[in-house]
Amino acid sequence: MSEQREGGCLCGSVRFRTAGPCRPVMVCHCRQCARWSGYLIAATAVPAESFEILDGADRLRWYRSSGTAERAFCTICGSSLFWRPKDNNYVAIMAGVFDQPSGLKLDCHVFVGNCADYEVIADALPQHEGYPVTYPEWS
Ligand SMILES: [Zn+2]
Ligand SMILES: [Zn+2]
Repeated sequence: MSEQREGGCLCGSVRFRTAGPCRPVMVCHCRQCARWSGYLIAATAVPAESFEILDGADRLRWYRSSGTAERAFCTICGSSLFWRPKDNNYVAIMAGVFDQPSGLKLDCHVFVGNCADYEVIADALPQHEGYPVTYPEWS
């Protein structure tokens, strides 16, 4: 059987599945993710065709967070769930919403140039000032 993962929001209304490999997890320190999550987001990603909503599509709302992307949350419990670019070729998924064990691996920090003044990065993972240009979108 090919690699599969499932997850969902806090209240269980929204459930999803990914098929195939997930991108290593990036911790994002940008200001949009800070406001959206309350602190930081850690996210993996898969190509759009490897992502499927199993349940609760009607309770999911997509919010246009910038000119180039939108973010999805559960309208019942408010969980921050997904991020996708305008052209919708892949979906980033918050690492914390996967069922455990997820088998995901933390890989690096991005947008560390935008860290808030209270943030502490206490691991030895690579830190990128912005989004690493050489980093593949999801592989
Ligand atoms: Zn929910
Ligand atoms: Zn971010």
